[in-house]
This record gives sequence, structure tokens and C-alpha cells, in this order.
Amino acid sequence: MTETANPQRIALLPAARAQTPILEVSLPRFVPLGPNPQPRAREFAQDYGPSFFVDVGTACPLHCVYCSVQRGADDKDVRMEAREHLYMRLADGAGAGMLKVAFIGGEAASRPDFMHLADVAHAMSFEDVILATKSVKLARPEFVAELLAHNVSMVHLSLDSFDPAVLAKLLASRTAPKLLLAGLQELLRQEMQLFLFAVLTRHNLPTLDDYVRSIADLQQQYGRRVPAVVAPLKLQSRALRQREALVPPLAEVGAAVAQAIDLAQQLDVTLIHKALPLCVVPRHGAWALERYLAEARIDLDTGDYLPQGPHAYLVHGPDCPACPARALCPGVDVAYAKWRGWAEFKPAASAAADPSPAS
Ligand code: SF4
Repeated sequence: MTETANPQRIALLPAARAQTPILEVSLPRFVPLGPNPQPRAREFAQDYGPSFFVDVGTACPLHCVYCSVQRGADDKDVRMEAREHLYMRLADGAGAGMLKVAFIGGEAASRPDFMHLADVAHAMSFEDVILATKSVKLARPEFVAELLAHNVSMVHLSLDSFDPAVLAKLLASRTAPKLLLAGLQELLRQEMQLFLFAVLTRHNLPTLDDYVRSIADLQQQYGRRVPAVVAPLKLQSRALRQREALVPPLAEVGAAVAQAIDLAQQLDVTLIHKALPLCVVPRHGAWALERYLAEARIDLDTGDYLPQGPHAYLVHGPDCPACPARALCPGVDVAYAKWRGWAEFKPAASAAADPSPAS
């Protein structure tokens, strides 16, 4: 039986707050960065923020070959955050004025107390409770109904392909792909707000145009918009160990993303990229999520916004200071740059990063 939130307990939490005095948040930019802002990308950022994430731990029943969640050297150290910690993090976000909370993992939906956590978030008056997931449980209509009943209002569905054979390689499973695709249909059927997130690997990059066409078909079938964000693989953990088999050159990723965005424009699909250096998408900088959604940090003791420190995994290279796109460019995955060097990333190419072609 699902537990219900205990408002009395929740009310006590702010006083008990905060083992970590910094809160990382995502804020829609009042004025998007760069020229030619894209209304659909801006709309997406406003749907998603201002938000913060609550990391419930690293447990996950799937074994995706590209997983970048860190679980120790042998991939076996599973972290499960205590509920009290999660309550306090929720209180931190509420105290900082965040309107939306995203539960991330691991697989947040696999926690037995997930519905309870959603209840607690709802009791704290967050406007949106977001679940980032790739759970095969979504294929069960009653599970999606339960999410809605517990006020989960948006699902960030990790779906890298619509092709079960491609998904089977990425998820290292023959059964999970069909269940995940059925889960997407179930979310749409029950009118859950959602967006898709795909990481780009050697397996799914060649069919990125088909990904866009499949979204266009769904939009037609269900009469609603299904935005999608695509990003290169984050080279950590299992993804780093499998890099030779999984990671295409970022120049190839950029070319495929640019082509897919052009197609998406024709088909009225919102396709946004994230964490891509702008010199690999020189004409499509206006679809970079970073232009519409700022990552920021709040000091919970003072309430002050802190200056943006160096990014945890994206860096700039030796030629970047002279690049005209430097101020807008998220940079390059540090592990990718160490592995493949900086030859792909040249200011000369990024000089044409903007203006992007009008949509
Ligand atoms: S040269 Fe550097 S700053 Fe310029 S777009 Fe490429 S990665 Fe970004």
C-alpha cells in the first residue's frame, strides 16, 4: 500500500535542512542568449524551469551499455539516498523558490517509496513533479495511472530510438525495448505531459532522422506536441569503458543533429540539442538548450546566486578563447577531449555559429 505524505513532518524539515549548502537549479532565461531565438525551444525551457533535481540514488534494474551513472570501479556500488535526505533536499528547493522538482537516479521509478516521495513533493506545493525515467513499468496502464494519481505531472522519458533492434543493443535487453515503447504509448494515451531525451551513440545516430519522423507520427496520432532533447554521450563510468564501440566523432554527431533539426522544422517537431560544442553545429546554435535554460547554483545559507563555476564535465580547449562563439558554447566533454584531442573544434568553423537560419 502506498504511504501518504505527512505534512507535520514536512513542516519541520526546513529547520533540519541541508547537509549540502548548494542547490543546483535550472532557470529559464528571461532573454534567450544569442540571435534568432526559437519560440519552441523557449517554450520547452519555460515548461521545465525553474526547477531543481533530487537524486534518489544510483539503483537501476536495467543495464544500459552507455550508462554514465557512477557506481564505483566495478560498477557495483549502488547508492540509495535515505528518505530523510530527500525530504531535506525537497525543502531546500521549496525554500529557494523553485516551482518544479525533477526526481532523477539511477531509476527513480524503481524505488518502492517513489509514490510517497511524489506525494511529499506535491504537499510542498511544487507546481510540477517531474520523473526522469526509463522504467519498463510504464508499459503497465495502472502504473501510469498511479503516477498521475500521485500528482506526477511530467515525465522526462529517456528513449534513444524507436527501433527495438537499436534499443536492444543500447539497453542490453531483448524485452525492455518493447516495454519502453509501449510505455511511451501509455503515457501519451493517459495524457501525461512528457518530453523525450536521447543520447547519441554509434547505434542510434544513423537513424536520427527516423527518430524525428516517429515523433511527427506520434504528434499526429495523439494531437499533441512531443518535444525531444538530444545530447552526446557523457563519457563517464560504463560509457567511458565502452567508448570505442559507442562514441562517434562529435563532428559526425553535429552533422546528424543539424540534418535532423532541419527535418524537425519541416515536420513541426521540437528538437533541441544539449552539451554540443557549437562548432559542430555551426548553423544550428539557436536550438541549443543552454540558450534558453541556465544552470545556476544557489547558496542555501545566504540565498545568493553563486557565480557559475567551471562546468563539472564540459571544458574549453586551447583555441576556444579566440572563438567568436565562446560565450555561447557549452564546450566539450573533458573525457572526450582527452581521448580524441581538439582537432575537431576550431574557431574558424564556429565563426559562422550565428545567425542560425530562420525557421
Ligand atoms: S572552438 Fe571552442 S568555444 Fe568555439 S565553438 Fe568550438 S568548442 Fe566552442
